[in-house]
Amino acid sequence: MSLRRVALFACAVAGAFAQELQFAVVPRSVIEQRLSAFTRKNADREPALRRLFEAAGCTGDALTEQPYKGAKEPNLICTLTGEVESEILVGAHFDLVEKGSGVVDNWSGASLLASLYQGLADVPRRHTFRFVGFSGEERGLLGSRAYVRAMEKTHESVAAMVNLDTLGLAETEVWLSRADLNLAKWLGVAASTMNLPVSAVNVDGVGSTDSESFRAKKIPAITIHSLTTETLPLLHGPKDQVEAIHMDQYYRTFRLVLAYLALLDQQVR
Ligand SMILES: [Zn+2]
Repeated sequence: MSLRRVALFACAVAGAFAQELQFAVVPRSVIEQRLSAFTRKNADREPALRRLFEAAGCTGDALTEQPYKGAKEPNLICTLTGEVESEILVGAHFDLVEKGSGVVDNWSGASLLASLYQGLADVPRRHTFRFVGFSGEERGLLGSRAYVRAMEKTHESVAAMVNLDTLGLAETEVWLSRADLNLAKWLGVAASTMNLPVSAVNVDGVGSTDSESFRAKKIPAITIHSLTTETLPLLHGPKDQVEAIHMDQYYRTFRLVLAYLALLDQQVR
């Protein structure tokens, strides 16, 4: 792992600014190995995700389960404390439809959570980051809904929710029609800073995803994915296999999301 400092000189809507993004790049071999650690049964997934978090250094009190009413498996939450109370939440569901291997939908997102934690753990930050593996997404966003309900009781304040669902089928894409436009703007800035691709692909009418539970409570949220018209039929069926994932594209998405989180830490309030 090497510490990367990227000078950021971009002209955004907010005006010209120049600052430095800091994060530690996790090697591609580690990203691939964590992707290949998927299991095909829902019941095995939360322990598998826990092992990845622990390998990345998120252990002890930092790693907590959130059981909820109606849950078969709990949500799994890894917390990286910052200087301010306001939080940036990075979410990905780990449950699957057991007709395929569920590696695309959505171990591709869930297994990145540990590496994103690792990439930010040893650099200065303002916000508290929470990396949340949601359960029960495929049964109606159960985990993310339960999370939002619990948040209201604890008065947790979330400045941004970044949801990862179904990555590596193509270059990084954003569901722009359902995204907070400020969060989408910073994703564009992160992409141009890193010289990495991102495009808008809206998947309205296809289904739902965990960011919608947060949007329903007026919390700024965005979903990053990789679906296109051609790859849509792969979801929830036997073609959801690891061979469908393009590792070059998947690793570029990891690097972009990591830089994006470092940028959001500076830019959102
Ligand atoms: Zn999904």
